[in-house]
Amino acid sequence: MTVVRCPVCGKPFDLQQSEAVPFCSSRCRLIDLGRWLDEQHGLPVDPDDEEELL
Ligand SMILES: [Zn+2]
Repeated sequence: MTVVRCPVCGKPFDLQQSEAVPFCSSRCRLIDLGRWLDEQHGLPVDPDDEEELL
């Protein structure tokens, strides 16, 4: 038995019993994927930086 902590919810779980390693469940895997996509597409645009580029 290998107990690790889920990076999403922080819950300890058995690595060998999870269907969505390194997460505790496929639900947490989806949450992590959603966060990653938010970071890719939701970059805050700073109007000041844009002016400097022009
Ligand atoms: Zn989890």
